[in-house]
Amino acid sequence: MSKLAVVTDFDGTLMQQDVGDLLMKTAEVEKEPAVVEAYRQFDAGQVGSMEVARTSYSFLADRKSLVDDVIRQINPREGAADFLDFCRKHGIPVTILSDGMEYYIREIIRKFDYQVEQIISNPIYYTEDGGYRLDFQNENEACKWCGCCKADVVRKLKQEGYHVLYIGDGTSDYYGSGFADWIFARARLAGYLEEAGEAYFPFETFHDVLKVIEPDLDKFLSGEASGKRMVPNTFCLFEE
Ligand SMILES: [Mg+2]
Repeated sequence: MSKLAVVTDFDGTLMQQDVGDLLMKTAEVEKEPAVVEAYRQFDAGQVGSMEVARTSYSFLADRKSLVDDVIRQINPREGAADFLDFCRKHGIPVTILSDGMEYYIREIIRKFDYQVEQIISNPIYYTEDGGYRLDFQNENEACKWCGCCKADVVRKLKQEGYHVLYIGDGTSDYYGSGFADWIFARARLAGYLEEAGEAYFPFETFHDVLKVIEPDLDKFLSGEASGKRMVPNTFCLFEE
């Protein structure tokens, strides 16, 4: 059995666009005074993504058709399908791990017919009876900072004995990648890791990711591949 697991972020990583950002822009939610204030506090480090999502996603409760319009505009990042096929062929479980909205992720994954082991994201979706559920994935009792506690998910995979390869681009990935073995990073995540003096593989397409993994697959499977994360994660809190 493969002891390598892949964890990939969704917005701006598996997908070319950040669906959540595009939704908020299209619905003009980002102009709402409560949302402006939530983002101000987030940027100042006073609140985490849970607070921002609670405020901003409340404005999408009756806007399903707008969300569906945005979903139609979304494209996968180049090489995404090839990468997922590669993982399936080699029995490597893939987790899509997102601090976004479950509704759009499941719709987009279905549209492109992607097969993955699991999708973990915030349970925010439109219900059969025309209602709206706005809730969070965070199962970490010690810390309710992020909507989706990515670090907790990666830690659990590690506890199950997996070597974890993490792929991401944004702020929520600072925390999730902090417990992985190897990190593939672009955009803000790459900048953050660079500043922290952390080891990572830069990427722009999933063909870039495959170029690193394919020739050394045996070493990634056994946990011996070079380029491992080095700096300990001192931000995330957990109950012991
Ligand atoms: Mg992202």
